[in-house]
Amino acid sequence: MSGIPSFCELPLIGQFTQDNLFRYNQLREHSFTQTRPFMTDSTAKPPINWPGAIVLLSTPLIAMILLPWYALNHEFSSAAWWSFLLLAGANGMAITAGYHRLWAHRTYEAHWTIRIIYMIFGTMAIQNSILVWASGHRTHHRHIDDVDHDPYSAKRGFWFSHIGWMLRQYESGRDDFRNAPDLLNDKIVMFQHNHYLKLVLLTNIGIPALIGYAVGDVWGVLLLGGLLRLVWSHHTTFFINSLAHMWGTRPYTDENTARDNPVLALLTYGEGYHNYHHIFQYDYRNGIHWYQFDPTKWLIFALSWVGLTRNLKRCPQFAIEKAKLTMQFKYAEEKLSLQAAGHAQLEAWKAKLAQEYEHFNLVLNDWSKLRETWFAEKKLELLHKWEEASFRTRFQEIEYRLKMQRKRLRLLTAQVPSVA
Ligand SMILES: [Zn+2]
Ligand SMILES: [Zn+2]
Repeated sequence: MSGIPSFCELPLIGQFTQDNLFRYNQLREHSFTQTRPFMTDSTAKPPINWPGAIVLLSTPLIAMILLPWYALNHEFSSAAWWSFLLLAGANGMAITAGYHRLWAHRTYEAHWTIRIIYMIFGTMAIQNSILVWASGHRTHHRHIDDVDHDPYSAKRGFWFSHIGWMLRQYESGRDDFRNAPDLLNDKIVMFQHNHYLKLVLLTNIGIPALIGYAVGDVWGVLLLGGLLRLVWSHHTTFFINSLAHMWGTRPYTDENTARDNPVLALLTYGEGYHNYHHIFQYDYRNGIHWYQFDPTKWLIFALSWVGLTRNLKRCPQFAIEKAKLTMQFKYAEEKLSLQAAGHAQLEAWKAKLAQEYEHFNLVLNDWSKLRETWFAEKKLELLHKWEEASFRTRFQEIEYRLKMQRKRLRLLTAQVPSVA
């Protein structure tokens, strides 16, 4: 399965130039020696990350006290509730479409106006600057589940991957921008990084206060659109690092803990399809089927109609089918291995599975050959428009064969009784 991501076009994240190398070294020095005195002794608990701990622990506590008190003594206006919904949506989508799919993974390109909007509402979500967030997330993908290098490894438990990793200055969470030369060159990203605290205060107090003033309910909007919205967007996003690595199915790969979970997708603007995302991280979609709830994908796609986003990357259907089938073979084999040795049907099922596996390898072979021919002819510029179209049809035929095989395999697996 390790070959699958190579089917997806890798994004160009840029090179270090003299200018951004200097900036990188400055930031590195600052983050390593001044603000983050990391422990080298692995037995000692790392020092507390005070800014993170204060924001993450105080806001839910204040919300739990202040909101019921206010609700009992005053009344929240419907405008205040609307401000919660709309601002939570704007923060959530700025993180998923902006911080995650645009800046961390480069799955598409966006017009500067959209990037500024993402930057403003992403800052409001208080999840650190784009540079720190996206660089840490690239490390998460690269070292997934590694307890020493994945900043929020799910193998260290729910609490750690959800919030614990931000409360102390863990060695695994150390900033290292060597994986982000493209971001160090991005003016919007660096502006936000350099003025982060001011922007956090301005967006978190200024925007709710302004809306509150406009609708005549300043305190209501500050509490619901400000405080409750912040706590809500924090924990729904954090679920992607914790629950989305623990609860759900693994249809595409079982080589890491990432799961697909439609319930989490509802809370996370589509990021719940995390098993797909970890194998095909350069795809702008997380929920690839039309019935899967992925509003982040819909937003990026809708913006492409009006020219505000472009170069939307999708992983080839063939690679997706191949990953799914590989997992189905694994599950079928597992199920068969659990059957009692003398079962009357066992040999027949095994023979059928072996036959299907042979067929699978034949299809993969056909696909490789067709791709080689296509590459060779493309290189020689022999392809005319109608030939391109004929190649496309032949590729689609192969994808269809895999799809049909997936159905047969599902039927075959369903015949085998489950053993608890
Ligand atoms: Zn993940
Ligand atoms: Zn990701």
